[in-house]
Amino acid sequence: MKIIKGNPKFHILTPKSELINQLIRIEKAGRTCYQSEKSPVNKETAKKFVNMLIKRGHESVIEHSSLTVKFLNCSRGMTHEMVRHRLASFSQESTRYVDYAKRGEEIDLNKFQLNCIAPPHRNEKEKVVLENGEKLSLRDMFANIEMYYRGLRKAGWLPEDARQVLPIGIKSEIVVTANFREWRHIFELRTSQFAHWEIRVAMITLLKELKKILPGIFDDFQKVGVDKNGIEYYEKK
Ligand SMILES: Cc1cc2nc3c(=O)[nH]c(=O)nc-3n(C[C@H](O)[C@H](O)[C@H](O)COP(=O)(O)OP(=O)(O)OC[C@H]3O[C@@H](n4cnc5c(N)ncnc54)[C@H](O)[C@@H]3O)c2cc1C
Repeated sequence: MKIIKGNPKFHILTPKSELINQLIRIEKAGRTCYQSEKSPVNKETAKKFVNMLIKRGHESVIEHSSLTVKFLNCSRGMTHEMVRHRLASFSQESTRYVDYAKRGEEIDLNKFQLNCIAPPHRNEKEKVVLENGEKLSLRDMFANIEMYYRGLRKAGWLPEDARQVLPIGIKSEIVVTANFREWRHIFELRTSQFAHWEIRVAMITLLKELKKILPGIFDDFQKVGVDKNGIEYYEKK
């Protein structure tokens, strides 16, 4: 079993040039409303135009867009929070079809490892006393779950049946596609101080990157504080 300190990673799968083209497309679409088409339209004019749209609450125009992001090294708990965002599209690592015991083409029930995500602000080796008097750490608990999963698989259970015992902290991957308006909504909910630390870390690091790549669209999201675990939180200003 391998423990990973929670620090989700991401890859932006939409090419940067395509994102800038989309920004320009939004200006072209918006100017149709005002019959104010002008040329040339570029990244700078689009940034100003998009800022104006957002200030006026004319956000339907920024729906002429699509951004795809792959999240890695995150828990099944985080991916479950992501999939609640109904206006987005998802492709997620399957606990039915992925066989954790598979090494290349071989299935090795003795060597396989579960990868689990631990809270970065907790010591996964800290022992806690259970109601039966036993002392176990988070690391021990994940190791036990791995043993249970292995036991079920060795007894002939398929991954889709044995998965019932897997923890919510199991490592997962998910690809998310949404338009810029929906990403703004996701950032509003998931970078706030009320969001769970894991999705908040993922969304704040993504937001910081997007602020650089896509001027105008996410400028109004600002850091407003840091929680007791040292994790930042944001608000829409
Ligand atoms: C801090 C926090 C705690 C949470 N705790 C819980 C919890 O304890 N239990 C739980 O079940 N969930 C919980 N959630 C999930 C939450 O209830 C929402 O399901 C999730 O945040 C998605 O929000 P949304 O519906 O606004 O967004 P999306 O699904 O992304 O939709 C975007 C927007 O589209 C519109 N929309 C989408 N679908 C419809 C529709 N059918 N009808 C009308 N308008 C629609 C709404 O305006 C919506 O805000 C929590 C979320 C957060 C951020």
